Amino acid sequence: MKKFLFIFLGIFLIYALYKEIPGNISSNNSKKIFMTVSKTNDIVELDLEEYLKGVLLAEMPMSFSLEALKAQAVASRTYTIKKLENGDAICDNSAHCQAWVDPTGSEYYEKISEAVEETCGEELTYLGEPIEAFFHSASGGATENSENVWATKKPYLVSVESPGEEEIMQNFYSTLEITYEDLIKKINAYKGTQLITTSKLKDKIKILSRTNGKHVKEIKIQNSTFSGTEIRNILELRSTNFNIELTNNSIIFNVSGYGHGVGMSQYGAEAMAKSGSTYKEILSHYYPGTSLKKYNSI
Ligand SMILES: [Zn+2]
Repeated sequence: MKKFLFIFLGIFLIYALYKEIPGNISSNNSKKIFMTVSKTNDIVELDLEEYLKGVLLAEMPMSFSLEALKAQAVASRTYTIKKLENGDAICDNSAHCQAWVDPTGSEYYEKISEAVEETCGEELTYLGEPIEAFFHSASGGATENSENVWATKKPYLVSVESPGEEEIMQNFYSTLEITYEDLIKKINAYKGTQLITTSKLKDKIKILSRTNGKHVKEIKIQNSTFSGTEIRNILELRSTNFNIELTNNSIIFNVSGYGHGVGMSQYGAEAMAKSGSTYKEILSHYYPGTSLKKYNSI
């Protein structure tokens, strides 16, 4: 009789635990998210794992290897979970959240499903908490410490090498030439004041310092110092990883990579995948010190 009681209690306990697990992810019981579609302003309800397929399709080149796509699936899932935990709204605008397109009927549906399903429910954590899983297109050779871009320091968002991006990214290198006159206009408009007063800038522009990731940290123009990020925003440069050339009338920015440079480099992830790394190796390279766990584990 006692034996039956234990069996009964055991079954009850398993049932109770199962019910109490928030966001349980047995295939048809995934976390739900509400996403605003920017075009229509409609709010749609999506299963988190299905949502991630649309993110993958919008955020990653579909020619990429499965391991790189899996790394992106985990980064995107973690990024989303963190947003949900913070009570932030989710939308399909890449400037605010992550890009998303409806994956229904896509010729890549099978490939993205494989990447999402093979990592189902996996998130990256640091000291047991989901991380801020930032990612970008290509770092230009080394990623950035987060505090150099957004002033917030995170122990797992630190500069790491990111080799091989230039071999697989077609527009890895870009150039912007702008006359001193236009440069002054843009800076003064951005600052809302006549900050730069001379057009004779040839000897008055200098890169003062670089970050650990070799991106421009500070640049001096006449008597003002700007952060690399500020200049990137003002001139819409593809990255803060640039060198300058000064001619008599203009400045030329030679830029490497694309994006803010923090966290995982997508092209770096693909370069690692191509040389045989698994998605777990890719993630622990770009988010050092983090652990991978199932988000429903207790
Ligand atoms: Zn958003």
